[in-house]
Amino acid sequence: MSDLISVSQAEALIAEHMPSFGSERVPLGDAVGRVLRQAVHAEHDHPPFDRVMMDGIAVHWSAALPRRLRVAGAQMAGMRMQSLTSDDACLDVTTGAMLPAGTDCVIPVEQLRRDGDSYALSDDCRPVAGQFIHRRGSDCVQGTLLLSPGMHLGPAEMALLAANGVGMVEVAAVPSVAIVSTGDELVEVDAPLGEGQIRRSNDTAVRAALRLDGFDRVALEHIVDDEAATRARIADLLERHDVLLLSGGVSMGQRDYVPAALAAAGVRKVFHRIAQKPGKPMWFGIGPRGQAVFALPGNPVSALVCATRYARPALRAAQGASVTAPEYVCLDEAVDINPTLASFVPARVQTDTQGRLTAYPVPSRTSGDFSSLPRTQGFVQLSPGQGKAPAGTVAPFYRW
Ligand code: AMP
Ligand code: MG
Repeated sequence: MSDLISVSQAEALIAEHMPSFGSERVPLGDAVGRVLRQAVHAEHDHPPFDRVMMDGIAVHWSAALPRRLRVAGAQMAGMRMQSLTSDDACLDVTTGAMLPAGTDCVIPVEQLRRDGDSYALSDDCRPVAGQFIHRRGSDCVQGTLLLSPGMHLGPAEMALLAANGVGMVEVAAVPSVAIVSTGDELVEVDAPLGEGQIRRSNDTAVRAALRLDGFDRVALEHIVDDEAATRARIADLLERHDVLLLSGGVSMGQRDYVPAALAAAGVRKVFHRIAQKPGKPMWFGIGPRGQAVFALPGNPVSALVCATRYARPALRAAQGASVTAPEYVCLDEAVDINPTLASFVPARVQTDTQGRLTAYPVPSRTSGDFSSLPRTQGFVQLSPGQGKAPAGTVAPFYRW
């Protein structure tokens, strides 16, 4: 057991060794979901002019404002600034228009009655100076820092890029990833299933997990259990990709050729084996060009847990994404834990009536048991300990 490192040591070692994938400039429309790699400052004051907030009229307010106002013209949204010169007149205005010169009060159309070429104020209309005017720079002034490198570009961030004239956006480059399954027993999803064979599924799970974070430059590859073939294919894949995510062939079996083949290809081992269950055999290293190599255990649940717990966040961090703290959940029932290994326990989570995120554990019977995972959202990480983690235990939760 002495060669096992802890989950947090594994995490730290991966973070320390991950390469950077650089950045690229893309058109605004392609930036959604990407990691921003530039700072964005307000191009101008927001709003850039005193902005009318209601459809109605603009007037020069005074205590003696007449109850009937002649219409002297119009200031529609998008027009250059008009002006009002008379205190017993008004200008028609629309939402989004510049506040006309000579006015300081907007009266909404709901409080007006049109009467020929003038408006009468309704009886309950009590205008005050400055009303319904969105002042220049009141949201933010020119030069304000609006977006920072590392932010995830969702709808609000995209709108800010557009509103500030950023047509080409500096975002994190997406690395080229090879997801590689290994094993003579594995066949394609659409191939006939012979005796002793099963279908490949880990690679599909891992690809799906990465896709959720926008990693879409992915090739699925397969290597048979042959020492020479494993060496040759790994060397070739290292030439063509920034990241290798292998599954299987990394344990102590007679045909587990992956660690030796990686070493032969010049991939430097950072660690092998983590004090965790499932996923203990996980291997991580760095290739000759700085390629990140994750060799995940073959058992399906182990592979998905390790991809979720280590590979996905490491790839996000390597893109410069701001680190997000894990969510914490409260265990609904006691769960068996291991005295020396961290336990990753799949769970369904739901917020209870007190607003607490509660985890309903769905322990898988074996680490090969994908069939218990549907309807789970991820897994709870429980520290090593004796017996059971009691109901009410608060622990970090990692979403698939
Ligand atoms: P290994 O680590 O290669 O000994 O594999 C451990 C177990 O996981 C074996 O039962 C394999 O058949 C299974 N396994 C390995 N790779 C895959 C895969 N890509 N899809 C489904 N099962 C797999
Ligand atoms: Mg195998």
